[in-house]
Amino acid sequence: CGIVGYVGPRPSQDILLAGLARLEYRGYDSAGIAVIDESGSLGMRKKAGKLQVLRDSLADAALPEGTTGIGHTRWATHGGPTDANAHPHLADEDRLALIHNGIIENFAALRAELIADGVTFRSETDTEVAAALLGREYRRTGDLQEAFRAVVNRLEGAFTLLALHQDQPGLVVGARRNSPLVIGLGEGENFLGSDVAAFVEHTRRALAIGQDEIVAITPDAVTVTDFAGNPVESEPFEVSWDA
Ligand code: GLU
Repeated sequence: CGIVGYVGPRPSQDILLAGLARLEYRGYDSAGIAVIDESGSLGMRKKAGKLQVLRDSLADAALPEGTTGIGHTRWATHGGPTDANAHPHLADEDRLALIHNGIIENFAALRAELIADGVTFRSETDTEVAAALLGREYRRTGDLQEAFRAVVNRLEGAFTLLALHQDQPGLVVGARRNSPLVIGLGEGENFLGSDVAAFVEHTRRALAIGQDEIVAITPDAVTVTDFAGNPVESEPFEVSWDA
C-alpha cells in the first residue's frame, strides 16, 4: 500500500524505513525492504505486522549496507498477511527484488504459464508472477528497463511496480498503471514514492509519472518512457504541501 525507492550515496535502509513510516497513515499489514550494496549483493527482509517488527528483525540481524534500495508496505489482496506473502518478491535466483501496489487481474493465467515453464512460487500473491516474469525477461535481455517493457505489456489491472537487480547497483526501475508513482529529485540522489510523503523530508523537487509509464532512476539521472519505450518529457514541480 506504500512504496519507496532510493539511489544515491547514502545507506538506504533508514531512508526507506522513514519513507514507509510517512506512508503508514494509508494502512498496511506487512512491510519489507531490499537493498544492494557496493559489491553487488542483494539483501532482503520482510515481515508481517507493523514496521516495528521489521525494524526489530533488522536490529537483530543486519542487512548489508546498501545505497540502492526499495521499501514496501502491503495491504493484502491475494494471500493472507504472512512473511512469505509480504513484499519484496525475489526472482532470477534471488538476484532481483520487486515490490507492487495494486492488483494484477490476469495473474492466474500468468501463474499457470510460469509454472509450466518450471517456476516455483513461494507466495500466494498476484505480485510474484510479475517478479517471475521480470526475472525471465531480465535473463533474456540483461536490461532491466527492456525487461520492464516486456512485463508491463502483459499485465492487466492496477500496479505500481519497483524493482532492482544486484547486477545493476545504482539503478531502480519502476512502472505505473492505474496506481500512483512520483519521482523525488535530489542532488546526486533520487527517490521514488507512491506519494510525495515518502521523500518530502529529503527533497521538494518532484516529477510526476503519467499513466502507463516506466521510470529508471540512478544517482545522477532520471529517465521516463512510455510502455513502448518512447521518451516522455515532464516538468519538475515544487511540492508545496506542508509535510
Ligand atoms: N496485490 C498485492 C498483494 O496482495 C499488493 C497489495 C498492495 O497493494 O499492498 O500482495
